[in-house]
Amino acid sequence: MATTKDKDLTIEDRLRQLYALQAIDSEIDKLQILKGELPMEVNDLEDEIVGLGTRVSKLESAIQDLETEKTNHLNKIKEAEMLAERYKKKMDEVKNNREFEALTKELEYQELDIKLSTKKIRTSESNMEIKNESLENAKGKWEEKKNDLEAKKVELEKIKEKTDKEEIKLNKKGDKQRKVIEDRLLRAYDKVRSAYRNGLAVATVERDSCGGCFNKIPPQIQLEIGMRKKIIACEHCGRVLVDSSLTEKK
Ligand SMILES: [Zn+2]
Repeated sequence: MATTKDKDLTIEDRLRQLYALQAIDSEIDKLQILKGELPMEVNDLEDEIVGLGTRVSKLESAIQDLETEKTNHLNKIKEAEMLAERYKKKMDEVKNNREFEALTKELEYQELDIKLSTKKIRTSESNMEIKNESLENAKGKWEEKKNDLEAKKVELEKIKEKTDKEEIKLNKKGDKQRKVIEDRLLRAYDKVRSAYRNGLAVATVERDSCGGCFNKIPPQIQLEIGMRKKIIACEHCGRVLVDSSLTEKK
């Protein structure tokens, strides 16, 4: 059993060990990707909900203002109607033409005020209608996003519950695997692995090409890889190359 760094290991054993480490590390990478997107989605939703909440309260206060405006104009109309009534009564008692004309002007003025306020009320009402529609819309979206957020949070929790355990398990397995691999090889592995986004430092030969960078591998080199007597790196990307049958479980 090769539990410590054994200098007598064959190259084939070393390649198998390295490939096993790569398999563990790739599993860890997959877990990170799985988790990596959900927290971002949750954050985005939280931002959206705050934005929609602001929109809802702005619309509500705008509608409130329009309501106040409408009430003010209704009061103005009431007042103008009262005055008009008073002027009409006075007109029945006028003594001369001049007084009559003055009252007629006052009456006209009040009637104009009533017309103007009526028009303003109509405008307020149609604005309110538009704002109410937007408000309903925003509230609907708000509700929808809140439900989305709840669902995502539950999903994230579930994944974390699973991945956290899995990650700990894989990390332990990875640490154990690293202990049996030669330091020099491990350093090269880490260096290549960190250089690529997909974290691949060991690649298989697939369809006569490197499984990491997809460049063609000459037949002579493929033959040497298959013999497993030398550690061979891809001349294009530096990944350690193994023949695909080595990756099959023994
Ligand atoms: Zn390559």
